[in-house]
Amino acid sequence: MTVVTRFAPSPTGYLHVGGARTALYSWLVARANGGKFVLRIEDTDRERSTQEAIDAILEGMEWLGLSWDEGPFYQTKRFDRYNQFIDQMLEQGSAYKCYCSHERLDAMREAQMAAGEKPRYDGHCRDNPNASGDSFVVRFRNPQTGSVRFDDHIRGPIEFANTELDDLIIRRTDGAPTYNFCVVIDDWDMNITHVVRGEDHINNTPRQINILQALGAPVPEYAHVSMILGDDGKKLSKRHGAVSVMQYRDDGYLPQAVLNYLVRLGWSHGDQEIFSLAEMIEHFSLDAVNKAASAFNTEKLNWLNQHYMKTMPASEVAGYLAWHFADQGIDYSNGPSLEQIIAVQADRVKTLKEMATISGYFYQEYADFDEDAAKKHLRPVAAEALSVVRDKLAALSTWTAEGIHQAIADTCEQLQIGMGKVGMPLRVAVTGGGNSPSLDSTLALLEQQQVVGRIERALRYILARAADAAN
Ligand code: GLU
Repeated sequence: MTVVTRFAPSPTGYLHVGGARTALYSWLVARANGGKFVLRIEDTDRERSTQEAIDAILEGMEWLGLSWDEGPFYQTKRFDRYNQFIDQMLEQGSAYKCYCSHERLDAMREAQMAAGEKPRYDGHCRDNPNASGDSFVVRFRNPQTGSVRFDDHIRGPIEFANTELDDLIIRRTDGAPTYNFCVVIDDWDMNITHVVRGEDHINNTPRQINILQALGAPVPEYAHVSMILGDDGKKLSKRHGAVSVMQYRDDGYLPQAVLNYLVRLGWSHGDQEIFSLAEMIEHFSLDAVNKAASAFNTEKLNWLNQHYMKTMPASEVAGYLAWHFADQGIDYSNGPSLEQIIAVQADRVKTLKEMATISGYFYQEYADFDEDAAKKHLRPVAAEALSVVRDKLAALSTWTAEGIHQAIADTCEQLQIGMGKVGMPLRVAVTGGGNSPSLDSTLALLEQQQVVGRIERALRYILARAADAAN
């Protein structure tokens, strides 16, 4: 039997991290078993579903690399199919028409609540040959005895007594099939063998199983994934920072880091923290997923992101970094290669966004000196060191890190001063601030003329400041 799993989001918002983790688990089950992964858009709620949300979900899945083998299928395009089954069930008697008015149902509900009972349909039209009226819904004839049992891969055995389930509406008065029914037909039509979804759907499962059984359809296996909480133990929400997957891209995370982070959120394999996709596929098991809610931990995501920035082939990271330069309006076409930037900066930042932000001076003049750094290092005493080092750098016939290193060392030697007295003013002169990778590699990534020009800019700045102070 081919394993077939699915991700079935309702397009009412962006792809959030909880949904993405569910999608990843479902995708891994398919990939681990040489099976198929289906993408289904559950857009039956026409008022809350939007095209923007559909686009955002597809974009999120693509960015994460969770490729699907079939779909996306849209439930709103399959209404004829669902209705065909509802008609068949009406004929066979596993569903019936219910003519109860809103008024009757409201009164029934109120009486039940007043009596301290759980509100449920009382079966008024179930076996009533006289039931009639202008409009009707179709209800599923739920078994009234026995129970529904399933072995959840994550939560273990779960049992619901049929007496707790009432006769579910499967088609509304306007002829539209309802959500739970569509899911049942889809899972059957799409040959789904494993349903991996959020734990908020546990209560739907016995209803769906009963309908599957009434139709003579196979019942898939189920795995209900727990919620993701913020680091304060509350349900993850915007208050905690990013919750949409694409926000993680915008914030400078690599999809590889996000996937690794998500797979570990609620699942473990010994002490291992770093998982390539191949390792995830090899080791992941639904049965090892934790049923307790998992807490989001940004520190750990940052750690993973840095790991992947440092260890992935730079040529691969470069594509993602390019996006951030473009996003920040930095033209990176003239200057060091992105691979060179990654080599000197990956250790120094947590995200690609930060990497792009602090690397602007490699491609364009910095706007202003960092105020604190300039105050501390671009003082009149630095002028001599800067002009000597400028002359030595300008005189180099080849522009290499070694030559640059030597020119700086020679300046210290000639003026009998320590490295810091040349290095820091030079760093501020060339990068605009007090933080950069090692000076020789930073300067080597720039052009000789650029470096000389920036030292001159710093010298002019020192002069102007001294003149201001004198006035
Ligand atoms: N459409 C549901 C949701 O987005 C998922 C239902 C399912 O996976 O069965 O929560």
